Amino acid sequence: MINKYIQEAYKILDGKQLERELVEQLMDLKGEDILDLMSLANKIKKKFAVESHVCTIMNVKSGMCKEDCKFCSQSMHNNSDIERYALSSTSDMVAQAKEANKADIASFGLVTSGTGYKRVNPEFKKIVSSIEKIKEEVPHGKVCAAIGLLSDETAKVLSEVGIANYNINLQTSVDAYGDLVSTTHSSADRIETIKHLKKYGSKVCSGGIIGLGETMKQRVDMAFTLKELDVDVIPLNVLVPMQGTPLENQEPTPVSEIAKTFALFRLINPTKVIKFAAGRETVMKDYQGLLMTAGANGYLTGGYLTTRGRDAQDDAKFEKELAMF
Ligand code: SF4
Repeated sequence: MINKYIQEAYKILDGKQLERELVEQLMDLKGEDILDLMSLANKIKKKFAVESHVCTIMNVKSGMCKEDCKFCSQSMHNNSDIERYALSSTSDMVAQAKEANKADIASFGLVTSGTGYKRVNPEFKKIVSSIEKIKEEVPHGKVCAAIGLLSDETAKVLSEVGIANYNINLQTSVDAYGDLVSTTHSSADRIETIKHLKKYGSKVCSGGIIGLGETMKQRVDMAFTLKELDVDVIPLNVLVPMQGTPLENQEPTPVSEIAKTFALFRLINPTKVIKFAAGRETVMKDYQGLLMTAGANGYLTGGYLTTRGRDAQDDAKFEKELAMF
């Protein structure tokens, strides 16, 4: 017998919205009810979010960031043993974009460490000209960017150059950001960047991390904020505890809670791309398939910022099998 709150949530398949009060009941589901919730999330995905979204990223500038994000191995406030380097050359970026294209990965994202670019400085100009060069040399590929906070001016420039998606994660709920993520900047800074980008017509990719120590309510709050902001793609990461960060010994979140979170994100954002990003192969291992049937319709492949992932071809095979469900 399906739980009465899940039965009520089936109305999403008729195009109805999920009210906050009902989500609060679903947040408390346990055991087999979570599997029923996941099944509904999978049905919603199949009905409203059919397009699959696969992307890969290149860390084009690593480490030395003055922000204090607790989970991040690239922060100067943390002591992680990572490779640190300044902005990569345009030719390296083009070469990697070609590799991604050869592996049939639709979207290629350039990621920089650091606060972001509020001014059109020489480094920002180099990133923009590299994007132009990639678009010229890989005409059928999509180029994305994740280079931190933007001003109205820099958001306009990036929108005009024609990025496919701009990634800037909220990471957690607005009220938890200061405690769980960073004290050197705020969610408001990130939301402002999203608004600048949307003003100029750019598509926005924004999600967060599960496992920072947040509550289920704070995850749901983030899902509703992303809905209000009308972002296009929602990447969900499972914390990969990095050595040298304050979260290096963080207790892992139970898989059932992660699965419930994925399903609730799909119920709250039925039509959006929900992408399983970091933690899929490295932390979730055997459970990644389970989570991909809890409402996700995309994933990040081929490695992350300072950790490696799985081979893109293995992932493509995996995705084909999962499409049967
Ligand atoms: S997440 Fe970004 S802004 Fe935060 S410390 Fe890491 S590189 Fe810096």
